[in-house]
Amino acid sequence: MNDPFNAILRALPSMDSLLAKGWISLFEDELGRSAVKSIASEAMDELRKEIIAGQRMEVEENAIEEEIRRRLEARVKMKLKPLVNATGVVVHTNLGRSPLAQEAIETVASIARSYSNLEYDLAGGSRGHRGDHVEWLLERITGAESALVVNNNAGAVLLALSALAKGREVIVSRGELVEIGGSFRIPEILELSGAKLVEVGTTNRTYPKDYQSAITDQTALILKVHPSNYRIVGFTSSVPRSTLTDLARQSGLYLVEDLGSGVLEDLTESGLPGEPTVSECIKDGVDLVTFSGDKLLGGPQAGCIVGRRDLIDRMRSYPLLRALRTDKMTLAALEATLSLHMRGDWSSIPALAMVTASAEDLLSRAEALAEKLKKELPSWCVSVKKVYDVVGGGAFPEHPLEGYAVAVASPHMSEEELCDFLRSFKPPIICNVSGKSLLFHVRTLLLGDEDHIERALVEAWGGER
Ligand SMILES: *Cc1c(COP(=O)(O)O)cnc(C)c1O
Repeated sequence: MNDPFNAILRALPSMDSLLAKGWISLFEDELGRSAVKSIASEAMDELRKEIIAGQRMEVEENAIEEEIRRRLEARVKMKLKPLVNATGVVVHTNLGRSPLAQEAIETVASIARSYSNLEYDLAGGSRGHRGDHVEWLLERITGAESALVVNNNAGAVLLALSALAKGREVIVSRGELVEIGGSFRIPEILELSGAKLVEVGTTNRTYPKDYQSAITDQTALILKVHPSNYRIVGFTSSVPRSTLTDLARQSGLYLVEDLGSGVLEDLTESGLPGEPTVSECIKDGVDLVTFSGDKLLGGPQAGCIVGRRDLIDRMRSYPLLRALRTDKMTLAALEATLSLHMRGDWSSIPALAMVTASAEDLLSRAEALAEKLKKELPSWCVSVKKVYDVVGGGAFPEHPLEGYAVAVASPHMSEEELCDFLRSFKPPIICNVSGKSLLFHVRTLLLGDEDHIERALVEAWGGER
């Protein structure tokens, strides 16, 4: 090796001297010593390669420390952590969808720390069946004959199509060939299942005769898909559920509906009309309905399938189920959440409580937060604003919820700087921006979140003084 390179390499600080720096210990608390060491040596290795490649002729110790700190901070940010959702989007897929009810959290903790009767029949003292009680609850709540729970709704749709239509044809309206959340695409799930997609109608209009003329002796089922966030408006026509059930029945086909959000209760009285409930679909004669556990059901990530017993039994003995089965913590959380639905105790389910919160309630919470912030931050611009919140998760896309937010503008920090600061806070705070103001929507705040927001803004103020 060439001498000038050697000289630069020899001048690099040793790993031991870097790890002895005072600021490093903060990261050791967060990540552990071996993770810190691995990140620091990765940075040093890259630096050495750059030196040997002649891309760097001198290296200051400060710059090395800065680079290591930057990598450690990035790693800490990636750790899964709770945060404050002040966006007003209740079922926010990027922010973990539904927070769990207290009872669900406690049930998960007790099942996680101990052995359980996951697959053990306590009455007979023999092998039992996973998911028994959850399925019983789903049957009672939805009025379906039978139920099955898998890892998520994408898995539920995949399982239904594979078990019931592999190698055969599935009819779907072109208006329902949607992509949901960037990775769930109906045509791709169909292909993966081994079923053949038969598209009918056009993007905006599909009639009963379109379905009828697509039926062949190869057709296994008709799939109806909730279009979620996607809406076709204007000159449109789709086939009502009851017409589809008649058609399926007359033709000896199954009707499977991917309902997406899985609204269990009629929320019309809370000002949210127009979303079919799972039990309505069952009552209308849909053979199988699939929906998510962590959207408006308000539970953990899961895929629920309810409907005809003979079809559910076929899925139960289909080998793919083994790869999609749910974990005990999921079952524990789902069981507790469904028990709350069964009792009618919606207000204990955070997602439902947020969606049904009254405008007066939200206004008084926003006013209370604004009052506190005005006192703490006299030179800032703080006010209460009327805003629109959304349910999210694909449900009620046409029903923005009337809500309230606290609008905050700092006299010294730009809205961007303040957002960056809040994202780095502990816990991180995610809010909306409107013009020069930050908007903290109160609908999606959980107990204690107002205090976090107050503490963060006071600290931002202290930092700029
Ligand atoms: C959200 C959604 C899915 C995906 O559900 P996951 O539980 O996230 O797998 C599928 N179909 C529809 C209609 C949806 O709204």
